[in-house]
Amino acid sequence: PVQSRVTVVGSGNWGSVAAKLIASNTLKLNAFHDEVSMWVFEEKLPSGEKLSEVINRTNENVKYLPGIKLGKNVVANPDLENAVKDANMLVFVTPHQFMEGICKRLVGKIRKDAEAISLIKGMEVKKEGPCMISSLITEHLGINCCVLMGANIANEIAVEKFSEATVGYRKNKEIADKWVQLFNTSYFMVSPVQDVEGVELCGTLKNVVAIAAGFVDGLDMGNNTKAAIMRIGLREMKAFSKLLFPSVKDSTFFESCGVAELITTCLGGRNRKCAEAFARNGGKRSFDELEAEMLQGQKLQGVSTAKEVYEVLSHRGWLELFPLFSTVHEICIGRLPPAAIVEYSEHTPKFS
Ligand code: NAD
Ligand code: 13P
Repeated sequence: PVQSRVTVVGSGNWGSVAAKLIASNTLKLNAFHDEVSMWVFEEKLPSGEKLSEVINRTNENVKYLPGIKLGKNVVANPDLENAVKDANMLVFVTPHQFMEGICKRLVGKIRKDAEAISLIKGMEVKKEGPCMISSLITEHLGINCCVLMGANIANEIAVEKFSEATVGYRKNKEIADKWVQLFNTSYFMVSPVQDVEGVELCGTLKNVVAIAAGFVDGLDMGNNTKAAIMRIGLREMKAFSKLLFPSVKDSTFFESCGVAELITTCLGGRNRKCAEAFARNGGKRSFDELEAEMLQGQKLQGVSTAKEVYEVLSHRGWLELFPLFSTVHEICIGRLPPAAIVEYSEHTPKFS
C-alpha cells in the first residue's frame, strides 16, 4: 500500500513539538513515509544564519524549542508550496492570525486527496459571522479538516511528560483514527470525538479564560477567585459554543480539550503569564509590548480571540450574556481596569 506523507505547516513552540511527536511515529509505522516535512516561516537568527538551515544542521529549533532534538527525519523547509506539494496529510499549526494568508497561498498547490488537521486555536470574524480555523482551511482549500486540541503545554510534551489530547472529527471515523495513529504515543494519549466544532471552540475560548486567570494572578486574588473565574469561564465557553453550534455535545467539555485544557492553560500557559504581567503593571503596558518582551517571538492567541469573541457578541446582541468574555476584552483594550475582572459577578448570566 502507498504510504501517507505528512507535512507540518508551522514550526513555533507547539509546531516543533508536533513535528517531533509525528516523526517518532512515522519511523515506527509502515502506513507513513518516514520523512516529515516542516514548513518554517524563515527568519535570520542573531548569528546571521537562517533558522531553517540551523534546524536542519542541528536537528533543533533553536529559537522556538531550544534543547530538544526533533528527530533526524524532520526536514525544515522555508518554501511553503514546496513543503506541501507531496503531502496527503497536512498538519496546520501556526498562530491563527497568519492562517488566512497561508490558506490563500496554498490554493491550487496541494494534493487533491489531501486531508488536514488543525492544532490552531482561534477564529476569524467575517461579515457573515465567525469562521473557525478548520472551516477556513476547508473553505479555501476544499479539503476535510479535523482538529486536535487538549491539555498540551508544548514544553512539557517536548520532554515527554504524560498528557492527553482530543481529535475532533466531522463524519469520517477512519480518518480520525488515522490522525490518532499519527499522534498517539506512550506519553501522548489521543482520543477521537465526533464534534469538531465543540473541540475547536473549547481550545479557542479557553485562551480568553486564561487571560482572565492571569489578571487574577496579577492582582494576587488567590486560588478561590481563580477557580471561580475558571468555572464561570467554562460555563461561558459551553453557552457560547452551543449558541453558535447547537450540535456541540456536553460530553466534549469533559474531554482533554475541555476542562483539562482550561485548567492547564490557567495554571501554566503563555496567555496567563502575559495577563499576569499586564495586571501587575496596572494595564499601563500593552499586551503587544509584553508579548514581545516575554515570549521571544512566540505569539499570544487570547487577546485577539477576546476581541473576535467580543465582535461576535456585539453583532448578535449577546454581550450581557457573557460578562466574563466581554470584560476580558474591555480590560485588554484599556476600557476597564484589571480589577474589573471580578465585577462581572454582579451581573447575572441568563443561561444556566
Ligand atoms: P508560537 O507561538 O511559538 O508562534 C511563533 C510562530 O509564528 C513561529 O514559528 C514564527 O516563525 C511564526 N510566524 C511569525 N510571523 C509569521 C508570519 N507572518 N507568518 C507565518 N508565521 C509566522 O507558535 P505555536 O506555539 O506553535 O502555536 C501555534 C498554535 O498552536 C497556536 O494557535 C497556539 O494557540 C496553539 N498551541 C500552542 C501550544 C503551546 O504550548 N505553545 C499548545 C497547544 C496549542
Ligand atoms: P498558551 O498559548 O496560553 O501557552 O496555551 C497553550 C495551550 O494551548 C495549552 O493547551
